[in-house]
Amino acid sequence: MAKVNVLGVNFDNKSFNQFQNEFIGRINTHQSTFIVTANPEIVMSANENPEFMKILTYDADYITADGIGIVKASHILGQPLKERVTGYDLFTWLMKLANDRGLRVYLIGARSEVMHTIQAKIAREYSDIQLVGAENGYFKEDLELIAYQIERTEPDLVFAALGSPRQEQLLSILRRNLLPALMMGVGGSFDVFSG
Ligand code: UDP
Repeated sequence: MAKVNVLGVNFDNKSFNQFQNEFIGRINTHQSTFIVTANPEIVMSANENPEFMKILTYDADYITADGIGIVKASHILGQPLKERVTGYDLFTWLMKLANDRGLRVYLIGARSEVMHTIQAKIAREYSDIQLVGAENGYFKEDLELIAYQIERTEPDLVFAALGSPRQEQLLSILRRNLLPALMMGVGGSFDVFSG
């Protein structure tokens, strides 16, 4: 079963390793790619918010099961998902890949102190990353303008940690504009990564 529907959200039934191979292929060919790592809160929220559900249905290229609750639900439905694939694990793997390849990375989200700590960590431990944006998530501008600012930096990877659905709203704008980058909402990952 390639896709597994859990409460209206179509999850890709791939292992972590299969996702890695797909994403490397899409990075190599500069395809616009929007990844959602959906936990049970995201699934519940999409069921209450039709605009959010539309983003998950029509804009996301990949939806991974970010939580054991989703995997358990898929088993109960008789369409078992291969495994849990968390946003944090994908994020840390993609940051290592970006460092190995000297990719252009745009980060947006979390509190300003957290973003400063992450910038220092990248300078120390991921010094081959080209950090083309490091903005905190407490801005007043509308998402269209923020999307334009991101596009101008020509990133290879975009990570947004604004909470859901806002991070997915921002990335869906970039995806509709066909920004040739791999983009992922990462929830609280910046807070963890900075610690
Ligand atoms: N966040 C942000 N701007 C906001 C609200 C939240 O940048 O206006 C950040 C927050 O600092 C945290 C991340 O979004 O780093 C995830 O927030 P939260 O844990 O509330 O969201 P969830 O992961 O539960 O969706």
